[in-house]
Amino acid sequence: MATELQFKPVVQFITKRAPIWKKRLCLGEWDIKHVFVETTHEHNDYSTAATTAAAWQYLAATITWYLPVAARFGEPFLESTLVHELTHVLLSPEQNLIDTRIASDSANTQYTTSENDALTDRNYELMEFSTEMVTKALLKGWQNE
Ligand SMILES: [Zn+2]
Repeated sequence: MATELQFKPVVQFITKRAPIWKKRLCLGEWDIKHVFVETTHEHNDYSTAATTAAAWQYLAATITWYLPVAARFGEPFLESTLVHELTHVLLSPEQNLIDTRIASDSANTQYTTSENDALTDRNYELMEFSTEMVTKALLKGWQNE
């Protein structure tokens, strides 16, 4: 069982690096909260270190860090996760549009449940892919600083 002592370096690292990356990603006008929780995202989900929820219309976002998962990794992984989550914030107006469209089409019974599930899964895969590609490009661009 992880202790508060093991979580402290994660909180300190994210708290130190978040303002630097917020500035680099031109997110200065955004209100981005980092919430640290001592649970996993879902029961026994040890693959999700953080999630992001953005209300882009209000330039507000919350990044939730799942400390029992995040504490298993070193600083390079935490840094790339931080950039990944901030990239979700950066792309949230566009990413949210697709979600809204699928929900709307689904509500109008344009799709069967399985078509809706397949589109939703595909949308999330594409969102993660584009987010990860931007993350890798950003990290590479700032590698030698
Ligand atoms: Zn993601």
